[in-house]
Amino acid sequence: MYIGIHSTKVGIFASARLLLLTRNQKMFHVEHCKSVRKMSVENLKKAVRNIPDFPIPGIQFKDITTLFQSADHLKELSDILFNTYKGRGITKVVGIESRGFFMGPAVAIKLGAGFVPIRKPGKLPYKVIEERYTKEYGEDAIQIHEDALTPDDIVLIHDDLLATGGTMVAAYKLVKKLGVKEVYINFLIELEELEGRKQFPEEVEVLSMIKF
Ligand code: AMP
Repeated sequence: MYIGIHSTKVGIFASARLLLLTRNQKMFHVEHCKSVRKMSVENLKKAVRNIPDFPIPGIQFKDITTLFQSADHLKELSDILFNTYKGRGITKVVGIESRGFFMGPAVAIKLGAGFVPIRKPGKLPYKVIEERYTKEYGEDAIQIHEDALTPDDIVLIHDDLLATGGTMVAAYKLVKKLGVKEVYINFLIELEELEGRKQFPEEVEVLSMIKF
């Protein structure tokens, strides 16, 4: 708990204090911030519950409900997301159904951006465009309203977890089809051994907070 509160204070006062520091002090300050952030992410990682063989045998399911149920963890998550993406001119956060709907709107509010849902077929009421894809377990499709984004939009696509990358690649294709200016991709969790990030073009920035 202490680490989360401490890192928030560092974030608030950092820019003002940095102006007054010598080069060595600045380097120490940057390294200190990095190590505080790393400790805070380790803390968040510990709060993710692993459920073996869910929803099918062989899957190590990362349960984020245990992460979200702590007020301090929730604040820390939204602070890290905000600090990562502030100043990039993001106009819309796109969240993927359903676990991308937890933090997506929260970070959109902090960034002063709108929120756009990508949903499973049959859920969105207006005209949609669709992408089909393969998941770590099973096949699926996702849709977005055809008028949800414009060519002026700078978009952050957010989901809870990167496994094979199939879901996010489909979401990325949907967003690109709507002709936006720029796209950033974010996950709370990345399952590194599945190498899902290799699915994305090199020019797209793909960030994840907690790595397993
Ligand atoms: P993928 O398309 O393979 O990257 O799968 C990502 C989506 O499936 C995310 O929206 C996750 O919610 C869900 N998912 C896949 N694997 C897991 C897992 N091991 N634990 C929790 N969620 C998962």
